Amino acid sequence: MTIHEAHGLLKDKQLSSVELTKACLERIGEVETRVRALVTVTEELALKQAEKADELLADGNTSPLTGIPVLIKDNMCTKGIRTTCSSKMLANFVPPYDATVVEKLNDCGAVVIGKANMDEFAMGSSTEHSALFATHNPWDLSRVPGGSSGGSAAAVAAGETIYALGSDTGGSIRQPAGFCSVTGLKPTYGRVSRYGLVAFASSLDQIGPITRDVTDCALVMNAIAGYDPRESTSAPQPVPDYTQCLTTELKGLRIGIPKEYFVEGMQVEVETAIRVAINKLEELGAKVEREVSLPHTPHALAVYYIIAPSEAMANLARYDGVKYGFSYREAESMWDAMEKTRQYGFGDEVKRRIMLGTYALSAGYYDAYYLKAQKVRTLIRQEFDRAFEKYDALVTPTSPTVPFKMGEKLDDPVQMYLSDVCTLPINIAGLPAISIPAGFADGLPIGMQIIGKPFSEETILKIAYAYEQAMEWHKRRPLMYNKV
Ligand code: GLN
Repeated sequence: MTIHEAHGLLKDKQLSSVELTKACLERIGEVETRVRALVTVTEELALKQAEKADELLADGNTSPLTGIPVLIKDNMCTKGIRTTCSSKMLANFVPPYDATVVEKLNDCGAVVIGKANMDEFAMGSSTEHSALFATHNPWDLSRVPGGSSGGSAAAVAAGETIYALGSDTGGSIRQPAGFCSVTGLKPTYGRVSRYGLVAFASSLDQIGPITRDVTDCALVMNAIAGYDPRESTSAPQPVPDYTQCLTTELKGLRIGIPKEYFVEGMQVEVETAIRVAINKLEELGAKVEREVSLPHTPHALAVYYIIAPSEAMANLARYDGVKYGFSYREAESMWDAMEKTRQYGFGDEVKRRIMLGTYALSAGYYDAYYLKAQKVRTLIRQEFDRAFEKYDALVTPTSPTVPFKMGEKLDDPVQMYLSDVCTLPINIAGLPAISIPAGFADGLPIGMQIIGKPFSEETILKIAYAYEQAMEWHKRRPLMYNKV
């Protein structure tokens, strides 16, 4: 069920929030041993929140999210609920406060059903870098769900929750959404508060919805977007009603297709599906320009892998075994304790990022790497600015391939990094982008990415909605839905 379908039933008293919550918990019981999307199931809390939501519903006092189960990625702080970042470092960390997004959902009477698995500290593209366990793709259990918000996307696709929150630093909402055939939106940088989101790379991180359709995505944005005085990069722009833009009329919209996103080595079926989808957008009334060029695109991956690790190494310095989180106890001295805490607390990918970032910021290398990456970042942003003088949106594949086999890219970090080539540039420029289902190759999902100018979430939601309504890919469900 979608949020809007469930809301209709709840409002008309055909369903109670307790019933809906129990149905999700039952579903978790049925499929979770195979999908493994949840780090924590908050059954008791969920049922308590559902009872409260039913009271709100009885008073007629509701928002579209009241009484509806949501799964939160495990890098967003939840008061009194373990928040692990899928790391040994935070395996027993219970935050004393809620992230702003969680607070906002709670204010709407949402039902928090649990915390979603992820790549450790959101570093990865397959959820295999979780220090706890790997998550499986509901469309093919031998394949990855994408990452780092793989738990969030897999759980939505497998019916374990009605919707989820993810975070996106270089593609972590959109790539898993594409891999699991669900809808995922990375908002404009600053649109959604990062307060209470465990920081990975602060100039790139954004929280956003992972849902079953575009309407749900708009409904969640209505609830979580907006200015937050507790977050210094939070944007003051007023929040529109994102459902108002959902029409199937694309006449007058100009869409550009940047050729650099159809990268060498891209899977043919993916390219074909996206080209067919683009034809559909044209049929729906959009004016499509197929030969747009963003020549700095090939540098985005290198820029990202300088800037993100540099910020990560600064952000992760707080895990020293003293302030909170894991602490190595049998040490000989303070320095030994700090060293061993990090040695045992962090996984290999996190250590790799810390080393890359430390290197890039060292005296003598700073100008050659970090400063240069920042300059190229500016060029990439300017290139997008120029493109958006001519186009309202840009359309690309979300990923160059369909979901890959588990283990396939685990020993080759660069191959893993390459699965985000189409999504990374968008974070570098701080733009909003959505991934929606755009077909299948041999039963494996293909995602289409729609990119907008800053704060034009309405435009990309509109294009996404028109396409979704015309194609109905979002209504397909994985086979495991039937074979329980
Ligand atoms: N896969 C990318 C990385 O490993 C992006 C992750 C993310 O968006 N959090 O950094």
